Order: sequence, then C-alpha cells, then structure tokens
Amino acid sequence: MAIRTIRISTDEVLRKTCKEVKEITPNLITLLDDMADTMYDANGVGLAAPQVGILKRVVVIDIGEGLVELINPVILETSGSQTDDEGCLSVPGKYAPVERPNYVKAKAMDRDGNEFIIEGEELMARALCHEIDHLDGILYIDKALPVEE
Ligand code: ZN
Repeated sequence: MAIRTIRISTDEVLRKTCKEVKEITPNLITLLDDMADTMYDANGVGLAAPQVGILKRVVVIDIGEGLVELINPVILETSGSQTDDEGCLSVPGKYAPVERPNYVKAKAMDRDGNEFIIEGEELMARALCHEIDHLDGILYIDKALPVEE
C-alpha cells in the first residue's frame, strides 16, 4: 500500500486513451490498493489510473458509501440530466459546473475477475462519468459550462 503522485492537468498522460486490462495480476491488485490509498489521502471521491500515470482502464470511487473498484468499466445506460459543480484531483483547487446524466448504469470487472453491474444516481452517476472519461483522456474542464457571475 502506497500513496502515488497525482498527475496535474498539464501532464500529457491525462490525455491518452487507456488500455483494457486483460489479466488480473499482482501488479494490478497493488495498483488498486495504491489508488484507493491515494484517493483517500487526497480526500477525493474518485481516481482513475491515468491520474497516477498508469494507462490502464481502472477506476476507484468512494462517494462515502464504500469503496468501489472498477476494471474495464463501460457505461451501458444513462438517463436524465443534472448540473452541479465538479472538481478533479488533477485540477486542484478549481470547480466548475458540468452537465451529466442523473442516472448511470455501467458494467465492470472486480479484482477477482468477475463482471458486475453498478447503477448510480446523482453524485454516483457523476463520479462514474467523470472517472470513465479519464480513461479516454477527457477531463471535466473540457465539458465545464461557463461559470455564471
Ligand atoms: Zn478527475
């Protein structure tokens, strides 16, 4: 278990497309453990592997309801919309409104290699979209709405 360095928004690694995980290896388990440590240490609600410089489709989320680890997550369904301020550990100290679906259903693999379905509304839906975007090199600032004065 270790805390890794969080890459900041000008780092090119955040703009790359991540590769699918083909195999659960001891390295991948270490990555999952380290990502959770890093997220909690930074008081974040989510972290994607490219934020620690690893170009793999791996995400951790904890919106205060327990740790969720997602390997190769794919969004299956979305509905509704919500607009709220969003931040990112890779864009420290900044927040801006982003429109996201209000409901998201996704599938992913857990650390034992089993596929599972996750559904979320509001903050969980937002976290799923935000973190999965990271795996395709997309940052929330790309989608942020103009801030109303
Ligand atoms: Zn982020």
